[in-house]
Amino acid sequence: MFEKEKREIIKGGMKLDRYGLVSLAGGNLSMRMPSGEILVTPSGMIYEDMVESDVVVMDVNGNIIEGDRKPSSDTEAILYIFRERADINAVIHTHQPYATAISLIQDEFRADLTTLGNACRGNVKCTPYSSAASIEMGIDTVKYLGDQLAVILSHHGVMTVGDSLKQALNAAVYLEECAKGYLAARACGEIRHLTDDQIRQTAEIYKYVGQGKGQIPKELLGREGVQAQ
Ligand SMILES: [Zn+2]
Repeated sequence: MFEKEKREIIKGGMKLDRYGLVSLAGGNLSMRMPSGEILVTPSGMIYEDMVESDVVVMDVNGNIIEGDRKPSSDTEAILYIFRERADINAVIHTHQPYATAISLIQDEFRADLTTLGNACRGNVKCTPYSSAASIEMGIDTVKYLGDQLAVILSHHGVMTVGDSLKQALNAAVYLEECAKGYLAARACGEIRHLTDDQIRQTAEIYKYVGQGKGQIPKELLGREGVQAQ
C-alpha cells in the first residue's frame, strides 16, 4: 500500500540528514494521501536504515491501517495539523540548528533574505515552548503558521508544511540556509530590512518558479515590491 509514497518519504528523510537538518533518528516526515490516509515515519529509526514497511499508514485519528512499527512520538501533533488544515498534505519536523537558534533570541524570523520569502512565503514565527511529543506542537503550529509554510518551535526545532512533500522539504532546507546567513550577519552588525511589500513580492514571484508554472508576470518584478491585495 502506497509503496511509491513510502519511498518518497524515506528519501526525504535522507535529504534532511544530508542537509544537516536532523541527526540520527531526529525529526519525522508525514504525508496525506488523496484518499485520506496518513503516512508517518516510525519512532526512533535512522532514515537510511528504513524500508517501505517501516512507514506506518493510519487514518487521521491515529488508527493504524498498515505497519508494525510504532509511529513517530510526535504523531498526535502531526495528526492535529492534518485535521485542522485540509490544504496541507505534508508535514516535516526537524531539529535544524540554525533556524532553531533564532527562537532562542527572538519571536519571529523576518524574511529579509529573498529565499526565505520564496520558500516559506514570508516571515516565519517562533511559537512558545512546548515539549516534544505533545499535541501542543501541532496546536501551536496551526496557530502561528498563517499562510506561511514554516514555524520555529522555540527551544526545539522546526515544522514545515506543504501541499506536497517537495514543498515542505524546500521550506525546511531554504529556511536553514537563510538562518545561517541571518545569524552570520547579526553577529557582525545591524540587520538591514526588506519592506513588507518587497517580502510579499518574494512570495508572489515564487508561485511561478519551477516547471509548468508559467512566466512571472512583469508587474511583479519592480524594485518596490507588491502591495497587499
Ligand atoms: Zn522534535
